[in-house]
Amino acid sequence: MGTAYRTLVLKYDLQRLPPEAAEKIPTLLKLQEEFRRWTAEWVKSGGALPPPPHNPLKHFGTRLLHGLKVLRWFKGLKKNGIKVEKAEMPLVFDVQLRLNSERDIGKGIFVDMPKKEVRVRKLGGGTLQLPLGRKAEEWILARAKEGGRPVLAAVWIGASRRSRAVKLYVALTFKREAASMKPKRLLAVDVNALHNGLAWAAVEGERIVARGVLRPDASKILHLQKVASRLERICAERDEICDNAVAARKRIWRILRSWEDEAVRRLVQLAIQHRAAIVADVPVDGSVRELKEGNYSPEKKALLNFGRLRRRLKGLAEWHGIPYCEERLYSTVCPRCRRKMEELPNRRVKCICGFEAHRDEVPAMWAAKLYPKLTSFSSSPSSAAPAVRARQPARRAARRLDLRHTARKRAGEQKAVPRHAPSPGRI
Ligand SMILES: [Zn+2]
Repeated sequence: MGTAYRTLVLKYDLQRLPPEAAEKIPTLLKLQEEFRRWTAEWVKSGGALPPPPHNPLKHFGTRLLHGLKVLRWFKGLKKNGIKVEKAEMPLVFDVQLRLNSERDIGKGIFVDMPKKEVRVRKLGGGTLQLPLGRKAEEWILARAKEGGRPVLAAVWIGASRRSRAVKLYVALTFKREAASMKPKRLLAVDVNALHNGLAWAAVEGERIVARGVLRPDASKILHLQKVASRLERICAERDEICDNAVAARKRIWRILRSWEDEAVRRLVQLAIQHRAAIVADVPVDGSVRELKEGNYSPEKKALLNFGRLRRRLKGLAEWHGIPYCEERLYSTVCPRCRRKMEELPNRRVKCICGFEAHRDEVPAMWAAKLYPKLTSFSSSPSSAAPAVRARQPARRAARRLDLRHTARKRAGEQKAVPRHAPSPGRI
């Protein structure tokens, strides 16, 4: 059994809150300020400071310390104490989910499914009632059906990362004890720059059982990016166009985000269907950054943000008890003789030993070649498996050096930068 977490973040536009909810916002902001001052002191004390003595701050402090003890996503924060200070700590609550007619036991956040409502309490005077949208409702019911239950909630007011609008956020973290799957196959996933898609292959022993490529609509995205760039140029001279430019960027981001979510769902579905552990090609630290800072065409830059995609894939795999690991699966190194291959037009690769293939096919061949090594972890979940632990920094640095001279022209080979410390802004 492995413990897995998933978090739903509800966003509320402050301008559109019902009047009785909007009234409570100044109180919430004041508490948030006070709590952040306390967390700053707490960080300075190296975590030695006890929770604040009086409610409502006592509740948030107690829940925060509890969360640090039990929830893995808090670990990154704890390790990087200083980041907690910078990351603007949310108010932390305990939570209850009412699916039918369960008794209300007075937790800080009460998610009332029959009433389609989220109640935020412990604010020291009055309850903040927020509506629950249809999508959020479906998400919660699906998690509950899978055996997940809410364990912690966080509330904060802050500026959206994408627009300047200030919003109210409510994050609900669900926990599940997932039985670890005993895989009989591997699902090799090669994350390319998105216009080349995600190549996947189900591998059993040395045999490739099934495979495919998941692709977003790159031509549509590139077109929208051109439109957005044009609008941005006009915006420099005519202010009234600026809103359209922002809207165009948001639209691109939304398309990519929903594609990523869909791709991750599909990959996890494939892993379940094939009873396969997921082996994802590990991005090379720094290479994406270099690409973004380099001369790579600006239109394609947005197609290289796959840190989020990788985090989602790992998280969803864990939620379903699917072993997950990351391993370099080459697409331009010969799986027969390990020589660097020549890159031909149409994404084909050729080795002087005579081997030739489409480069999307090569990572699966590497997975087949590495099968005994990669399946040595088969009975344990990803985080507990020494055989598949994250790569050593030295190896990673060495690999980065190897790739540097070809980084710009080989966009398809580059991978995203892993994030180690989750920020409370997006638990
Ligand atoms: Zn060869």
